[in-house]
Amino acid sequence: MSAKFVYGKEVATTIRSQIVSELATLKELTGGDVPGLGVVLVGEDPASRAYVVGKQKRGKVFGYHSVVRHVPADTKQKDVLHLIEELNEDDSIHGILVQLPLPDQIDEKAVIDAINHKKDVDGFHPRNVGNLVSGKDSFIPCTPNACMKILEHIHYDLKGKHVVVVGRSNIVGKPISLLMLRQHATVTVCHSNTPDLAAVCREGDVVVVAVGEPGLITGDMIKKNAVVIDVGVTRVGEKLVGDVDVESVKEVASYITPVPGGVGPMTITMLMLNTLQAFKRKHGLK
Ligand code: NAP
Repeated sequence: MSAKFVYGKEVATTIRSQIVSELATLKELTGGDVPGLGVVLVGEDPASRAYVVGKQKRGKVFGYHSVVRHVPADTKQKDVLHLIEELNEDDSIHGILVQLPLPDQIDEKAVIDAINHKKDVDGFHPRNVGNLVSGKDSFIPCTPNACMKILEHIHYDLKGKHVVVVGRSNIVGKPISLLMLRQHATVTVCHSNTPDLAAVCREGDVVVVAVGEPGLITGDMIKKNAVVIDVGVTRVGEKLVGDVDVESVKEVASYITPVPGGVGPMTITMLMLNTLQAFKRKHGLK
């Protein structure tokens, strides 16, 4: 048996058409208003610049209003906070995103805390994190949301299933675990101190890996027919590789997300979805 590959591009295409059709209705309901996304980029890191350009391009395709505030790497924290304040007050901006990582002189937490939580489309503000933990309506961080949409796409019912999440970061592992719990799965979270990772992974009907260690998960660690979602991305020479050893895992899993091409291509679409949600909330629409 060989696992089916789930390509994020395909899943994202379905979600994008849903956004397009919803936008047409919303434009009418709001008298022509469009969702607005404000992005703050500090410095010249090529990967960050490329992400921001990608987000801007996708926003334009949808007809979103898009603003990028790009400032030099040595910008002071107070000036970044000032930019956030301006975007908070701008009625044409419904979603704000600060491209991470930030230079060392800037306190990431202070910047995220400064974003109006109603515009926090990355879902990193403490208020959104708290809402996610307590099962209330919140912005769901893009990568974890992409993982959930992939499972929806393959019509996977999580109720009663055992999900093993490898990695416990605030932006990936933890929110994924909470979202899986919400769907009534039993969740085990592993990290660098987990003594026998292989034994725990073998219990998983679904294994989500978000570590950043190429080849960490091999076929002998996976239960037959499990679904394996590889979030990890590491640059090795010219290539991007995930945390999963695809050659061995594809022989036992039922589904697997490749790297590149799996979760990665969905994140910008998830951001567009969150911006749409912020726009609807502002207009009091469901
Ligand atoms: P992170 O903050 O560095 O967290 C990595 C997690 O992996 C930590 O919880 C760490 O445990 C755990 N870990 C490290 N070595 C381990 C091991 N040998 N066994 C089990 N767990 C281990 O990274 P992150 O931000 O969550 O990102 C994880 C990966 O996802 C990276 O490759 C990143 O590039 C990728 N990523 C991809 C996307 C996408 O769009 N596809 C988005 C975001 C991130 P401790 O907590 O004990 O240190």
